[in-house]
Amino acid sequence: MQEIKTPAPHATDLASVAQRLGTDPMTGLTRDEAASRLSRHGPNRLRRQKRKGWVAILRHQFTSMIVWLLAAASGLSLAFGDIAEGLAIIVVLLINGALGFFTELRAARSMEALMRIAQVRTRVRRDGSERMLDAQDLVPGDIVVLEAGDVVTADLRLAGASNLEIDESILTGESIPVRKQTDAVAPDAAIGDRAGMAYKGTAVTKGAGEGIVVGTGTQTEIGRISDLVQSAESEVAPLERRLDLLGHWLVWLTLALAALTIGAGILRGNEIAAMLQTGVALAVAAVPEGLPVVATLCLARGMWRMSARNALITRLSSVETLGATTIILTDKTGTLTENRMTVMRYLLPDGDVEVAKTGDGTPFSRDGSPLTPETATPLDWALRVGALCSTAELDHGAQANHTGDPMEVALLAVAAKAGLRREALRGTLPEHAKHAFDPDRKMMATVHGNGADGGAERGAIYAVKGAPEAVLEVCTQVMTPDGQVTALPPEAKARWQSRAAQSGQEGLRLLGLAMKQTGDGDGDPYRDLVLLGMVGLRDPLRDGVREAIADCHRAGVRVVMVTGDHADTARAIAGRAGLGSGDLRVIEGRTLAGRPADTLDEAERARILTADVFARVAPDTKLTLVSVFQQAGHVVAMTGDGVNDAPALKKSDIGIAMGQRGTEVAKEAAHMVLRDDAFATITEAMRQGRVIFGNIRKFVVYLMSCNISEVLVVGLAVGGGLPTPLLPLQILYLNLITDVFPAFALGLGRGDDAVMHRPPRDPDEPIVGRPEWQWIATLGAAITVSTLAAFAFALFWLGLDTGAAVTVAFLTLALAQVWNVFNLRDPEAGLLRNEVSRNPYVWGAIALCLALIGLALWQPFLADLLQLESPGMAGLICAGVASFGPLLVGQVLLILRRAR
Ligand code: ATP
Repeated sequence: MQEIKTPAPHATDLASVAQRLGTDPMTGLTRDEAASRLSRHGPNRLRRQKRKGWVAILRHQFTSMIVWLLAAASGLSLAFGDIAEGLAIIVVLLINGALGFFTELRAARSMEALMRIAQVRTRVRRDGSERMLDAQDLVPGDIVVLEAGDVVTADLRLAGASNLEIDESILTGESIPVRKQTDAVAPDAAIGDRAGMAYKGTAVTKGAGEGIVVGTGTQTEIGRISDLVQSAESEVAPLERRLDLLGHWLVWLTLALAALTIGAGILRGNEIAAMLQTGVALAVAAVPEGLPVVATLCLARGMWRMSARNALITRLSSVETLGATTIILTDKTGTLTENRMTVMRYLLPDGDVEVAKTGDGTPFSRDGSPLTPETATPLDWALRVGALCSTAELDHGAQANHTGDPMEVALLAVAAKAGLRREALRGTLPEHAKHAFDPDRKMMATVHGNGADGGAERGAIYAVKGAPEAVLEVCTQVMTPDGQVTALPPEAKARWQSRAAQSGQEGLRLLGLAMKQTGDGDGDPYRDLVLLGMVGLRDPLRDGVREAIADCHRAGVRVVMVTGDHADTARAIAGRAGLGSGDLRVIEGRTLAGRPADTLDEAERARILTADVFARVAPDTKLTLVSVFQQAGHVVAMTGDGVNDAPALKKSDIGIAMGQRGTEVAKEAAHMVLRDDAFATITEAMRQGRVIFGNIRKFVVYLMSCNISEVLVVGLAVGGGLPTPLLPLQILYLNLITDVFPAFALGLGRGDDAVMHRPPRDPDEPIVGRPEWQWIATLGAAITVSTLAAFAFALFWLGLDTGAAVTVAFLTLALAQVWNVFNLRDPEAGLLRNEVSRNPYVWGAIALCLALIGLALWQPFLADLLQLESPGMAGLICAGVASFGPLLVGQVLLILRRAR
């Protein structure tokens, strides 16, 4: 993008910028031109996500050690003249590769589709008309149309600005919005002074405008400075890596075992060629060929299930981390509560005024008697300030069309009920300036021309609202009941504080209201104010929050509230939501402000680790909290929506952004996006995460116990001087065709409630830990004993020839592996009713496996290829009976384990 860098667009006049970018602000780009630019510049995203091409996916299928081992086995077979077997192994390899390719391709594409749902949309002019577009499809030269409330989606050279103000705090740290226009400025102007530009990630607070896109994606200011833009993350989940490792490990083990068996065989004087064939069989037996495919499918399915429940996972690895989450740091407003506010009460100099929700006539009452606000009294002014000092819009027609902060909407609504509509108020008190809400001062202000008596404007009126303690701090006077003003001494402030605390303890969210009249409007809005009173708003708990939090507690996961609201209000809401146990421990964020985790001593850390609520927390404190919890060994999930939350979202193990309220920046930094902003969705996602991990563990144990049994059957038989009981192709048939379906079925299980009745697993806990290895060995041994017993029985008791006896061994092993799927049930669950027996996929897989086994036996071509012979009725019965042995052993052990 050489041409737009020199000279910089902010210092270039509009016509030249348009010309250089080959665009016309009136009509925008054509669709074709936009498409071609998109392919040149790439998508407009901060985090570079590499799209996995099909070639890479295909290559991936043939790079694993497993494939090389099988290829070597095939080469050996060919070299020893067993052409059919050599070719069959190649065919199987190809089928396996194709299966893996399509599964992985589908998984990759569906992940990309999921991520698209989480995208921000933006209004663009193309081909002469305006349309909504995914922000990531913007290209240099596009014309973007802005209005209040929008996030700027690319770097723009402004071509139009009417009253346009933009909050650029994310780039400049300056929280007061900047007034924009369309002129060029000096080349060396700082970002905050480039009035003719709008930058990606900043927020339009007021007015409207449009601009030419001069930079997208990482070629934007925020892209350049932001640490959000770390190099493309490898999307390989740690889980996949661990599975890979397991695969490698198995290959070496197999080689060692094969060498041992072959060596022993040769020493006993067996034929070298026969021994090599055994070696090939062993190699094929030990490798769980289906494992990578099943793992990919299982993770991708899990992501879809979560998305169907409104949780969009943007990183595959998060699926597993979710299951290990030990603590959730959650927002209050909008996540635990509905963010639908209603004004309940005014605290005024002459007492409290209650506000009724509905009904005709005046909604106000004091001590049970109705009250009409008289002009120029504290109530009248409180209502006016609430309506004037606002950025929201009330649509008097339809409730659904209100825009802006629900708290401000509530203030506008209550004023309108009292007959004070903002439009009318602004007729006599026109707005001259606005000081947007400053999260550090926790206040906002508007400045109005004072034409109250209908005459020419005389001086200015400041309307201020904000956190009660912040407003009290800057008030020096208070309005008396008759509309006069009088001094506000410190004792009186303390009394106001305790009144506010009382309402806060009822769970009301409080705001202080103040004003001042001055000769001119250029002074400090937050000095020498006149206190009018306070307003208390109710924000009800969301449905299902109590239950979801109770679920978390049962699952051993702590829930901690982190809010910008006052401690009293936060404590009341936390109590209602069922947070903590017994007395709630509340910490004020100000005690931690500006203190990174490494400056905290042990006592402070201990206090943090046991707190239930953090109140009046600033965004940078969230980062400290995440660090402290992580350093104590927690796996931290944290919610957030603002641009300032991005660093903490990134730092946490699971950053959760709000889909509806969240900014683009928060969504980009997060690992998971909640489409419905609801807390209950987090619990559900956690449940899914646990189910998925459990499923993966189940099918890994299942596949490995099957594989081990094959190795043992071959190794022990040959070691013991019997003929080879299973031929390589038979083993391949089992591993690639019949084993895979039950494994798939286990991977798709929906789990049961039990997963949320256990504490979270240790994040470092391996998929296959000690207990799993023991179970694999036990099941593998049981299958081995059954198979060898059936083989020996067929050879020596029934007197079958080797071919028929091999078929008996094959059948026993195949059926035993099918039944083995029931040994993967949760020991706590019932013998007959458990998550495996309730899984319809399992029954489907069993039916399919039986059909495939029958086919191998009775379909002449297949039977020929696999060298299976009819074992006769006695052989069939022998195999059938023996195959139930491992199931029996497994179930008895499970019952014993439960009893213990
Ligand atoms: P939560 O973290 O649960 O969303 P919050 O909205 O109260 O809580 P902040 O947005 O950080 O958190 O606000 C902190 C305080 O600033 C609020 O409790 C309120 O007193 C005050 N405040 C918030 N928004 C405004 C506003 N638009 N105008 C004036 N004061 C505000």
